[in-house]
Amino acid sequence: MTLLIKHGTVVTATDQYRGDIFIDGEKVAAIGTSLTMAADRTIDASGKYVLPGGIDVHTHLDMPFGGTTSADDFESGTVAAAHGGTTTVVDFAIQYKGQTLHHAWDTWMKKADGKAAIDYGFHMIITELSDQIEQEMDALVRQGVTSFKLFMAYPGVFMLDDATIFRALLRTGKNGGTICMHAENGGVIDVLVKRALAEGKTAPKYHALTRPARAEGEATHRAIALAEMADVPIYIVHLSAAEALEMVTEARDRGLPAYAETCPQYLFLSYDNYEDPGFEGAKYVMSPPLRARETQRRLWRGLAFDDLQAISTDHCPFCMKEQKTLGQDDFSKIPNGAPGIETRMSLVYDGGVRTGHISLNRFVELTSTSPAKIFGLFPRKGTIAPGSDADIVVFDPDKTITLSARTLHMKVDYNPYEGREVTGATDTVISRGRVIVDGGTFTGRVGAGSFLKRNPR
Ligand SMILES: [Zn+2]
Repeated sequence: MTLLIKHGTVVTATDQYRGDIFIDGEKVAAIGTSLTMAADRTIDASGKYVLPGGIDVHTHLDMPFGGTTSADDFESGTVAAAHGGTTTVVDFAIQYKGQTLHHAWDTWMKKADGKAAIDYGFHMIITELSDQIEQEMDALVRQGVTSFKLFMAYPGVFMLDDATIFRALLRTGKNGGTICMHAENGGVIDVLVKRALAEGKTAPKYHALTRPARAEGEATHRAIALAEMADVPIYIVHLSAAEALEMVTEARDRGLPAYAETCPQYLFLSYDNYEDPGFEGAKYVMSPPLRARETQRRLWRGLAFDDLQAISTDHCPFCMKEQKTLGQDDFSKIPNGAPGIETRMSLVYDGGVRTGHISLNRFVELTSTSPAKIFGLFPRKGTIAPGSDADIVVFDPDKTITLSARTLHMKVDYNPYEGREVTGATDTVISRGRVIVDGGTFTGRVGAGSFLKRNPR
């Protein structure tokens, strides 16, 4: 199968030019100004951008949490991702206490197998460490699961103490892996949550009011300090607070390999959403919580000046009906998370590029190239170049869509951006040379996605 994309404006993290792309099988075979080779199909991309497929390195598909399971599995989640212009996800496998890392990896491979419509990799969440588990970390890095996620929050469930975190950091320093950190001070939050509940404060907004920005700033500082002592890079996930961004900025100014991602919800939503009437605020219960509106400006600045290197989604949807309502009388029982896998590219283009916060090249860098580099997928993924996987989005910068749970493909009964109009949307999406979204219709195949063996640092 060969494909020719003609007359588009090709945009990568570094370049922008009028050009044609010839795809042979799964790879980009040639790029030129007026290619004439015969192809099985020719796509006219006049007036459109031709971008590397989006890479979302923070998703939770089919994930058990708080007595329920995230509403999208690898089928609905990756089909929704494709509609939104994302062609690669890196999801999280979870080691539960008493389990080996390989057991966790097998469990998540089975969840994805036969279901994923786009390519996928895994980070491994470590909840328990031993000499044997440390050896397994080395093996996983060799087998292509090259990043590990640790938690400084959720005591009794996911949280690790500093000694365990430090050991894991030292190990990845040797084996070429990367540590992703959920940086919030779980001990402090636990005390604040118990106190609020004892005072009868049960509404969704108390989820945010018991997770102060300083608790994220403190943990971010500690995570970076532990990584500095272990002499390894660190990647802070879902950074939401200005207090945390300051810590990353300070570390980077000192030349430390500290990296961080933020997510669209922290750029477009704010604490005000928790003040919605009734139980509506539960839609936005996620950790870290939404912050004060002024924070958005700081995060955009961080993205523009490379203090933040990626925009991922932390896609972790729970329906309002029967899921979020688990916390109807107790905010601490509301499943944490919100949908976002499908809306990332349009939201960031509309609210980032069109508003002038970031350039078009930086948009590609933040949503594709930089996560590919940090997580060992580049140059196979994350750019458009001869020999790279033909993961390509033909993106229409003038197409306006209205975000709504009724028309989006995520399997969740609400959308945090319901009714928001965004300009800039996918037209055609190509995954390893196959057209998987064609003018808004999914034309791919469930199960066609492959596990991505990622490279160590
Ligand atoms: Zn997450």
